[in-house]
Amino acid sequence: MSLDQAWRSELVGVGFITLLLIPLGLGIGHLAILLWGGLSLYLAWHLYQLYRFTRWLGKPKSHPRPHLFGIWRPLMRRVDELSGRGQKRKRKLSRMLSGFLESTGALPDATLVLNDEGRIDWWNSVAAEFLGLDRKRDKGALIDDLISDPVFLNYLHTGHYGRPLQMPAPVNANVSLEVRIVPYGKGKRLLQARDITRLHQLEIVRRDFVANVSHEIRTPLTVVHGYVETMLESREAFLGPWKRILGQMQIQTLRMQRIVEDLLLLSRLETQRSNEGQGVVGIYPMLRGIVEGARHLSGDQGHRISLEADERLRLVGNCHELESAFANLVYNAVRYTPEGGDIRIRWWLSGNGPCFSVSDSGIGIAPEHIPRLTERFYRVDVGRSRESGGTGLGLAIVKHVLSRHDGKLVVESEPGKGSVFTCRFPHARVAS
Ligand code: ADP
Repeated sequence: MSLDQAWRSELVGVGFITLLLIPLGLGIGHLAILLWGGLSLYLAWHLYQLYRFTRWLGKPKSHPRPHLFGIWRPLMRRVDELSGRGQKRKRKLSRMLSGFLESTGALPDATLVLNDEGRIDWWNSVAAEFLGLDRKRDKGALIDDLISDPVFLNYLHTGHYGRPLQMPAPVNANVSLEVRIVPYGKGKRLLQARDITRLHQLEIVRRDFVANVSHEIRTPLTVVHGYVETMLESREAFLGPWKRILGQMQIQTLRMQRIVEDLLLLSRLETQRSNEGQGVVGIYPMLRGIVEGARHLSGDQGHRISLEADERLRLVGNCHELESAFANLVYNAVRYTPEGGDIRIRWWLSGNGPCFSVSDSGIGIAPEHIPRLTERFYRVDVGRSRESGGTGLGLAIVKHVLSRHDGKLVVESEPGKGSVFTCRFPHARVAS
């Protein structure tokens, strides 16, 4: 019987008893007493059933299931039905949760959930292994107390999670980790760490190989170049017919020397700590030297080279690295701008921090090449680059130097009209 039907039959029952009592009460002359007595009995019966029902509902495990009558029976069935449904949903949810925990536990990457206070809410077994976490001791602990690496803490607190961080594992310095943080929900963060030891070692092997080869080549190359120069300067008659070939050899050995020097500089930039040799750098005098060099490089090509620089604006950084980056940009402007073109060099403090820019009215660069310019040996026009003495490594050096100074390179260019290369540095780099 449904609850609606039970409710209707309950009303019918009450009506029936009342109708039975009225003629009986009139018959014996005590209608009011009989009605009061009958309805009181009915109420007492309901109260008794309500008592048994609530006693059972309060502690279903310690009281036997009551045998109820009237509307109480379908009511109890309904309660059974609802609690059964709740149990089913609970079982389904807990199955889903344990499935989810099993799958995240099986992930090869360390995964860790941080709450809005930076405390650890949950982690998988790989995280326990990489970060040395203990299930009982570290639940709810502050991540700052467990990983004390200052580089990690800086990454965690700056809130700039665009790029992953590479760091040694807190429990084993021989393991290299790539850490990513993903914010989600209200102030929560998901921290993922991947073992990149093999990749890291391969990268070291590659770097060492390039540095060693460049280093080994440097000496024999200097010797060959020296002999070629001596032969070119010699007045021996038998060398006369060979002078043209010797001239070509001189150009090529010079080019190789430049490539070797650039490769060695790049590997130094990759291996040295970024704050090594940093101090206050007076950019203005440095730029005057670079402009001198640019005029010399331009020779009789008649480039109009101008310098607008804030003389008092100084930068915290590495003098040699900055000079090499700025000189590369200025010399590129000379090399890729036809005779008589304009080259404008600027150094100023913008609203976002110090900026260095080189604008030229040169050949420009098509948009599809711009994102790849800072790759090693990437050239838009290989022939032109070689002809003008390029190594294809200049902008790769610029990019490395800037990243070691928290700066970035912005390139704007239009083929046939010219280019603007801007180096932007953060405010924190201004030397007071
Ligand atoms: P390269 O030694 O070949 O100049 P870079 O790394 O300095 O190597 O530059 C990479 C490429 O970017 C160059 O080959 C050239 O095609 C392009 N490039 C660089 N600077 C300029 C510029 N000011 N104008 C036009 N193209 C440029």
